[in-house]
Amino acid sequence: MSDETKPIKPLSRRSFIQTAAMTAAALTLPGCSRKQKPELTTLTGDFDPLRSYPYRGWEDFYRKIWTWDKVARSTHSANCTGSCSWKVYVRNGVMVREEQAADYPRINEDLPDYNPRGCQKGGCFTEYVYSPQRLRYPLIRTGARGEGKWRRVTWDEALTLISEKLLDNIYNYGPDTNSYFSVIPAMSPVSFCAGSRFAHYTGGVFLSFYDWYCDLPPGEPLTWGVQTEACECADWFNAKYIVLWGSNISQTRIPDAHFAYEARYNGAKIVCISPDYNSSAIHADLYFRINPGTDGILALGVAKLLIDDNLIDVPYVKEQTDMPLLVFTGSKRFLRESDLKAGGKQDVFYFWDSKQQRAVAAPGSMGSDQKHIKLEGSDPALNGVFQVQLADGKTAEVTTVFELLKKSLNDYALDKVAAQTGLPAHEIKHFAHDLGTRKPAMIIHGAGTNHWFHNDLINRSFILLVALTGNVGKNGGGFNHYVGQERIWPEQGFFKLAFPETRKKQRFQNTTLWSYVHSTNHDPHLYGGKPIDWYIQESVKNGWMPLWPKDGRKPRAFVVWRANYLNQAKGNEILESSLWKDLDLIVDINYRMDTTALYSDVVLPAASYYEKVDINSTDCHSYIHPFGKACEPLFESKTDWDIFHALAEKMSQVASAKGLKPYHDAAFDWNRDFTQLAHDWTGKGAIKTDEEAVNFILANAEETKGMDYKLIQEQPQRFKATDPESWNSPIEPGVAYTPFKFQLVDKKPWRTLVGRQQFYIDHPWYIELGEALPVFKEPVPEKYPLYWNTPHGRWSIHSTWRDHRAMLRLQRGGPIVYMHPDDARKRGLQDNDWVRIHNEVGACVCRLQILPGEKPGRVTMYHGWEKYLGFQQGGWQSLTYIKINPTQLIGKYGHVNFRLNYWGPTGNNRDIKVDVEKAKV
Ligand code: SF4
Repeated sequence: MSDETKPIKPLSRRSFIQTAAMTAAALTLPGCSRKQKPELTTLTGDFDPLRSYPYRGWEDFYRKIWTWDKVARSTHSANCTGSCSWKVYVRNGVMVREEQAADYPRINEDLPDYNPRGCQKGGCFTEYVYSPQRLRYPLIRTGARGEGKWRRVTWDEALTLISEKLLDNIYNYGPDTNSYFSVIPAMSPVSFCAGSRFAHYTGGVFLSFYDWYCDLPPGEPLTWGVQTEACECADWFNAKYIVLWGSNISQTRIPDAHFAYEARYNGAKIVCISPDYNSSAIHADLYFRINPGTDGILALGVAKLLIDDNLIDVPYVKEQTDMPLLVFTGSKRFLRESDLKAGGKQDVFYFWDSKQQRAVAAPGSMGSDQKHIKLEGSDPALNGVFQVQLADGKTAEVTTVFELLKKSLNDYALDKVAAQTGLPAHEIKHFAHDLGTRKPAMIIHGAGTNHWFHNDLINRSFILLVALTGNVGKNGGGFNHYVGQERIWPEQGFFKLAFPETRKKQRFQNTTLWSYVHSTNHDPHLYGGKPIDWYIQESVKNGWMPLWPKDGRKPRAFVVWRANYLNQAKGNEILESSLWKDLDLIVDINYRMDTTALYSDVVLPAASYYEKVDINSTDCHSYIHPFGKACEPLFESKTDWDIFHALAEKMSQVASAKGLKPYHDAAFDWNRDFTQLAHDWTGKGAIKTDEEAVNFILANAEETKGMDYKLIQEQPQRFKATDPESWNSPIEPGVAYTPFKFQLVDKKPWRTLVGRQQFYIDHPWYIELGEALPVFKEPVPEKYPLYWNTPHGRWSIHSTWRDHRAMLRLQRGGPIVYMHPDDARKRGLQDNDWVRIHNEVGACVCRLQILPGEKPGRVTMYHGWEKYLGFQQGGWQSLTYIKINPTQLIGKYGHVNFRLNYWGPTGNNRDIKVDVEKAKV
């Protein structure tokens, strides 16, 4: 054996040190020793880094980077859903860095904990705060909107201008011509409430956000009668089967993705369903590279397999869903008590009791006297056709929802589903088998599937899978939707602060409808043979959806805070050239010059996340924690609370100076005395500061009873309880939150018309459009070849951080569109080419990145790029327009009624198509 081939003996720690010393000695051999320095004329200096040398002050300077004189606890509110607690380090009044607080209490020893929690955007916010885009002073526009010409003004001048204009609108055109837009109360409710209270006391129109951003999953209000319910992310660890469906958690749920990946050590399998091979797909046991827009047919094909292969949970389905309820085979309407008895109720429904062989009223519906859903000895039939005698003595044929479902699912045979989705039939079968046998199973749902035009049908089809298999209401199971930070845990405290004189006295408005009607948006498609305008008129006429201002008047003023309405708006260019142009006054309250601020008339500088007092909560975890002031608001900025307080005071002064008499608001029979506005806005002087507002919310909610701002500054606190008015499960010590235990364990009725998970909607529009049951409908046809996909990305939270120096350095530094190599080849395009993306609505020009992981037939641009950030033409929303789904306009149907951010048409955008060509730049 030669020396080269001898096995190497492992080094002990001692022999390692000896070896290291020998190596060091070898390096001091002639030519390298301290005594015999090399004769290198071009190189001077000392070769021994340990020897003293004259100036070492820089080392101390370097260490001082990590010193501080104050630490504050705060967080970020960019609608990231993360809700991560951070420590912010301050030196000499300057915020120098942040660090994850990492002190969320554990739920129990068997669950992975929430620590440390954060993402790379949160880790560089201190730099963002001092960046050039930071707004420092109140500004009034001097050039055209968007031109960037401003005049620095005093707060007094800006607030006087705004007050005079808003009052002028109220007295001359009506309070409903003033509109207010802010988003996501959970991410900073005090900031939200500052403006909502102002809108409330001045009679303005308060616009929705959750449906407009298409984050609302409309299938949840339809099926469950809730806005959104999801387990907290720690509960992912309890699952044995996790389906990531349209949700790229590695990019969009950075603080929580670990719970899903760690669940694999707890026996879980992960399935990823997404057209692109993305950073979550790499963790999956099964990856479905599905054709875009075909998720619904896959779900229904799997539902058919579950039923055909007897993989459904029959007792659960009989008790918890509407599957046994009886429906007329002719009219397709539910059998109601009013059909069977003269004077009977419209909201009592029936199943066929197999034991008694007769129709029996199902307990727990909206009209039922029984406030539970216990079957109490009955055995509802799932299958069959029956005869019932009606009030007029005639006999009618009825069947079950389950029978109708089975018939409908016959359209989704395995071969057809495989062909349409582009997936192998045997893998779909395998998926159905695992979903039906691995318990508990959950779907983690995201915007990838929720942003389609038929998102309600897609949601309902997905929920059907987890309901048929008995997974809803169980830890580790269910349909869990995480898009947006819509949930505010201390909800009742929040509502009392946001709309003090009760929500009934507020003009609420669905923003999708408002933006569509008040602009030149036009959807050329027909739905059931009719244009969408017909459905809109009917809906408004029937009082299903509100439309403000009334009587054909136009909005005149728009106040936006904590949001980037214009940049994020579907049909951005259409809105800019119509709705936006028609507004006399646009006010933006912001800590940075984003697109909306740039295109405004008056810009008011707001405090950033580290310069104010507020609270933060999310559906991703069950804790509350604060924003804190690491330093006072920078430059001339103020907190949102202080801004609206100052505006209320200014408006009171202006109203007094003008001698304005109270305005009689006939809609609410409310005499609005604007000379008293500041007094009303502060709760008659009781809530003047941000901290008082925080404590008001905490004290007025079951979830936070006994907590105050000081306590949550010390450490994040887990919620104490849940208000049964707002929630569907208790908070249990040692148990991760998951919804619908009230229904599954306590047998309380579901919040739907029929008191069960309601898959059958017998509203006339649903029946006419063929959507009474979850069915598959193709995406709305568009004539261009490539789907325009604009998902949430890794390097920004919406438009926030999009312009952060550090985030831009992690990508190509400007807007890019991703395309599959085959699509690029067909068009003669090379990586990094400037390309023009276009369709009938508009165009944008940016760089191309060729990505093998992208799906052919689709191009992707991560959303949120500001209009001014590196496009040669247009922006990512230049290609979109507003398309309203008619079924989302219904109301006055049991549990389906307009409610701000709960029910109303969504601003979907995934069905848009484009083409791409080389750009001439
Ligand atoms: S941006 Fe969101 S996810 Fe990132 S650290 Fe902040 S709160 Fe957490």
